[in-house]
Amino acid sequence: MLKTLLWDTDTAILVLILVLMTILGAVFGSFACCQAWRWRYHALGKKELGQWSVCMHCRKRIKWYDNIPIISWLVLRGKCRYCHKKIGIADFLSEIGMAVAFFMLSWAYLVPILNNWSQLVAAHPTLLVVKLATFIITLIMLVVLVVLAVYDAKWGELPVVLLALSIIFGMMVFVLKIFEVSLSDNPDVIGAIINAGIGVLILAGSCLVIYKASHEKLMGAGDWLLALALALALADWWLALWTIFLANLLGDVIALPSALKKKGHVVHFGPFLVAAFVIVLVLGNCLPLLLVSFRI
Ligand SMILES: [Zn+2]
Repeated sequence: MLKTLLWDTDTAILVLILVLMTILGAVFGSFACCQAWRWRYHALGKKELGQWSVCMHCRKRIKWYDNIPIISWLVLRGKCRYCHKKIGIADFLSEIGMAVAFFMLSWAYLVPILNNWSQLVAAHPTLLVVKLATFIITLIMLVVLVVLAVYDAKWGELPVVLLALSIIFGMMVFVLKIFEVSLSDNPDVIGAIINAGIGVLILAGSCLVIYKASHEKLMGAGDWLLALALALALADWWLALWTIFLANLLGDVIALPSALKKKGHVVHFGPFLVAAFVIVLVLGNCLPLLLVSFRI
């Protein structure tokens, strides 16, 4: 414990890596929002508007100093510098969320890998590759998920290509996690697959049931496919249960009041599923790992 707190060169490098990963997370959060807009323009056949970062209201090009993730939003208080119209909370939330997620995931997964680098290279090179691949694919999947969440929040749709991508990435994380179990001292691969399978039934299954039972009013067809991608990536029934619980809680608190006010208003569940997934990934997956590493 004491050793990890000492400021030697190794620690300084690890702290630097964590800071860089946090900044990278904020940048990717911002990038994901831009991608959502670009995807929208592409879907509407308006390509020319998607080339630059422009204000969506006055079409003025946004200067680089107004495009710094998190900071610019706070400085401008969520408004365009020129026309003073609102930029939207989605950009800010995805930048903050991704910064926190990248920081926590790097701390829980990347730092232990780097700490044991020479040992892993010498004794378990396959395990090293599997661990690094899981980490990187999870981060890429997060970017795709944020694009989906922003798109669903703004336009109430989940683009099929992005859904397919998230399921492919979820599948890859699932295979890597099972493979990592097979490399461990206690290679209970069947148990791990059953665990992930129950998670899929809980998370994707419940979304499918709500989708069918509510005749698409409470949930769309895309939601259960998104839930499938999330359940695969979690590969754990307990975390899957937490995700569906949190997504419903967030949906009830945030979306239901406005849905009750406007008749015929459809709740878009995608953003809540993604938000719950990120929270569960950060708190349910990373925090226990960190607590163990600090022997708390
Ligand atoms: Zn403007």
